[in-house]
This record gives sequence, structure tokens and C-alpha cells, in this order.
Amino acid sequence: MNMGIDKSWTLFLDRDGVINTRLPGDYVKSPEQFLFIDGVPEAIRRFSEIFRHIVVVTNQQGIGKGQMTVNDLELVHKKMMDEIRNSGGRIDRIYFAPALESENSPLRKPAVGMGLLAKKELKNISFKKSIIAGDSFSDMVFGRRLGMKTVFIGDATIARQNPAFVDYVYPDLLTFAASLKI
Ligand SMILES: [Mg+2]
Repeated sequence: MNMGIDKSWTLFLDRDGVINTRLPGDYVKSPEQFLFIDGVPEAIRRFSEIFRHIVVVTNQQGIGKGQMTVNDLELVHKKMMDEIRNSGGRIDRIYFAPALESENSPLRKPAVGMGLLAKKELKNISFKKSIIAGDSFSDMVFGRRLGMKTVFIGDATIARQNPAFVDYVYPDLLTFAASLKI
């Protein structure tokens, strides 16, 4: 991918299925359950050299369901941040949406609230110069609504089911990172 990315660009990252492995039918409720997908710390180290901001936007309705607490989530994120920092990378901000899907929260993807919060709180975010990488169509819709470039992380045959929402497809974050030419 070559779209003239420079230090004025922002990268939005989904978490489950992109940074760490999904737990089918469950939520990552403890640091022990948080496992990086292969190559992710290296990918984020590379992103850190390229992007002005790196922002995680993650739906966590396990909190809304009462299966985990905000404190549990913070412990999980501490592990994630520690390992990324130890690998020479950085994540500038993490936003999470704890609401249930049925609550129609403006924060929960595919709604755009977490993107708007990031733009308010971090300097110089331009959504035209932003990319969202995610493994769900809710991530792609989130990005489309804000005018971002969308990167589907996963199987190309799945991405092709909804081509209007997907600009690029990569099997994983490291492959995406390696594709970026600066
Ligand atoms: Mg995901």
C-alpha cells in the first residue's frame, strides 16, 4: 500500500482479532487470557515509526454484561502496553465501549463516538489521513463513516462479501505493517 502516509497520519486499531487472539464465545477478562497474535509487537513498533498517533478502539460489552469490570480491562491493557513498550513500540490512547450491543451506545462501533473522542483529545487528527485496521465489518463501517481508509485484517474471501466497506485486505497486522512504504 502506498498512499503517501507520513507523520501527519493516524492509525486506529481494533483490538480483539487484530492485536490479540479472539476467544470464541468469551471475553478477554484477565492478562493471562491476553495473547498477542504473532508479529504484532513488531508491527506496532514499525507503526510507531510511521504514524503520529496510534489509537486502539475496542468494543468490550463483556463489561456491560457484568462478566468483567473496568479494572479487569485495565489490567489486560497494562499487559498489552507493557509488552508493546518493551518491544520498542507505542500506543498513544485506548478507547473502549463497554455498552451492550442492544443499548445502541454512540461509543460502540460501528458508531463513531470513539473516533470523535480521539479527535477531541489528541492533537491534529485528520480522519482523511487516518486508517482503521479491524477484523469485523463494524470496524470498516466505523472507518467509512468518518472518511478513513479501511484495512480488513483477515480472510480476503470474507472481505469480498462487503467490498464497498473495504479498501485493503491483509491476513494480519505484520503483513499490513510490512506493506507500508514511507
Ligand atoms: Mg475485532
